[in-house]
Amino acid sequence: MLRTGVAAGGIAAAMQFVPSGTHPALGATANALIWPTPKIVTRKQWGADESQRVAPPSYDSKVQKLVVHHTATSNSRSDYNAQIRNIFNYHVSRLYSDIAYNLLIDEQGTIYEGRWATDYAADMAPTGEDALQRQVRGAHALNHNSRTIGIALVGTFDTVAPPVPMVDALVEVLAWKCSRWDLDPTGSSDYADALGTRVHLPNILSHRDIRQTRCPGNATRALLPSVRARVKQIVDARLLQARSEVRDDLQGPQPRHRQTRG
Ligand SMILES: [Zn+2]
Repeated sequence: MLRTGVAAGGIAAAMQFVPSGTHPALGATANALIWPTPKIVTRKQWGADESQRVAPPSYDSKVQKLVVHHTATSNSRSDYNAQIRNIFNYHVSRLYSDIAYNLLIDEQGTIYEGRWATDYAADMAPTGEDALQRQVRGAHALNHNSRTIGIALVGTFDTVAPPVPMVDALVEVLAWKCSRWDLDPTGSSDYADALGTRVHLPNILSHRDIRQTRCPGNATRALLPSVRARVKQIVDARLLQARSEVRDDLQGPQPRHRQTRG
């Protein structure tokens, strides 16, 4: 089971499924609690033909922006593994080295591994990071692929809103990546694009914020303010929980009033 939470798993259980790493403010134990990796359908499971992947990928040691897309494909497919394979095949046929997106989400809220980062061991979650904990770079947003993660909703959401399970999964993925990369879900910051232009952008943004495109659809764009707010709630709650569990862990069964701030 990859879906671990603070309430369900506790520190020891959560740590088994989460890549090691350190948050600037917290230790590895707390990190396990604040970025539990969601359940993800691996490339092997959706049937990626790895022989079609061409150049080795690039990686970033820092992530600054999470870019929301839709795939502009038809909605309500019966076989989403086949749909993901179609998108992969289309991208490599257009001379991309691999599928363009880092992660994809279907209408039932199933999350799929996108661009290949490394060959993960069977018991490891496909986090999109290599053994050096660097994020693999996608090809989802022209001149804005460095230090960004592209998350694609599978379908077209101009007039039709993304279904509730899909939005819930998007929130879950964004909370994971905001925690992992220390991004404020409702914040914004300067970003230097590949042409060297500095632009001030939200940390969670629509593809249309950086390029003239319909992506991720008007209906998705309309949801982003509430999505950001939900992500912030989750991230803040996990951080608080992690801090208190780490204090308890370090200090043992002492009376609460004797605990110091950590
Ligand atoms: Zn897009």
